[in-house]
Amino acid sequence: FAPWENPDEKPLIQFRNVTKRFGDFTAIDNLDLDIYTREFFALLGPSGCGKTTLMRMLAGFETPSSGSILIGGQDMAEIPPNRRPVNMMFQSYALFPHLSVWDNIAFGLKREGKDRGTIETRVADMMRLTRLEKFARRKPHQLSGGQRQRVALARSLAKAPKLLLLDEPLGALDKKLREETQFELMDIQEKTGTTFVIVTHDQEEAMTVASRVAVMDEGKLVQVATPDRIYETPNSVYVADFIGDVNIIEGRASQSGDRVLVSWAEGTTPLVAATEKHLSKDQACYLAIRPEKITISETEPDTANRLQGEILDIGYLGNISTYHVKLPTGHVIKAQSTNTRRIARRSFTWEDKVWLSWTDTAAILLER
Ligand code: ATP
Repeated sequence: FAPWENPDEKPLIQFRNVTKRFGDFTAIDNLDLDIYTREFFALLGPSGCGKTTLMRMLAGFETPSSGSILIGGQDMAEIPPNRRPVNMMFQSYALFPHLSVWDNIAFGLKREGKDRGTIETRVADMMRLTRLEKFARRKPHQLSGGQRQRVALARSLAKAPKLLLLDEPLGALDKKLREETQFELMDIQEKTGTTFVIVTHDQEEAMTVASRVAVMDEGKLVQVATPDRIYETPNSVYVADFIGDVNIIEGRASQSGDRVLVSWAEGTTPLVAATEKHLSKDQACYLAIRPEKITISETEPDTANRLQGEILDIGYLGNISTYHVKLPTGHVIKAQSTNTRRIARRSFTWEDKVWLSWTDTAAILLER
């Protein structure tokens, strides 16, 4: 059982009908959400959707306009930020420039009045965890961006909070370092057993690090699920489109046993999707098809879902190639193939006439 599937497991964090208004603008709209101990939970969504506001309410820097937030079963309404079992690591990590790495990490513990022995053990543990042993005496300006990031992380973990909030923690790092640091974060999260809640607008980052992802839009949660569920079974065009690449075809449904036939463009045969949904006749719907689920071939395939078109563009990315294929209807479909075979299959080129095909289970049927 994952904790969120276990009815006996109590959530660490509970948002109950939480609304946050700034003047007459609703930033968070009647939101319910449970997050469990040891989760690495990602809040994902476009700029302005309310991610940071949600986080700031957890930390106690903002108060909900209505509803309640519980941590460990306790209502946080009357609890100030410094008395919550929460620490926040900020996007622009504010390290003390005049203090060494060691002193930066020790800062919060000293302020709490911990004894010297405890502080020394704890700081040494944190430096080992974040691989900073060699840099104990350096000042922040003598470190690389990635190393500074690790100091900020060590500092925010030093007081062993139950919950660590990370707001775009890797935003300042370049792509390669960012990807490496994602794995370090996962490792550190697992070793400390701290619950992490991360805010990001980078869908790949959310998918990489998170146990579960919440996709937000305009102050609401659109879908909350594990990364693979979000990718394989998005609940809306919004989520399908936000996470990864997708082809969206608009059409009208008719049920045929456990299949749905989707009529979509004049003069084309209906497309077929396997689904547990039951749609009424002529109900407006979408088919969402991931590019990597589409096979490109020279000869006509023997499947119900097949379309002929002409290659417009090819994007070569080394391990994969992306093809833009124009159909006689004018639609452009994206298909992707992996380039793993040593002996190249026939590779396609511009203006080639090709067939696109996919199985009944590859298309995701979404209601409009
Ligand atoms: P980003 O990815 O750009 O940081 P976000 O999803 O974190 O965006 P929030 O910072 O939570 O978004 O803001 C949500 C909405 O609430 C935005 O439209 C923002 O303008 C508004 N907002 C946030 N704080 C305030 C405030 N103090 N006063 C008025 N409006 C605010």
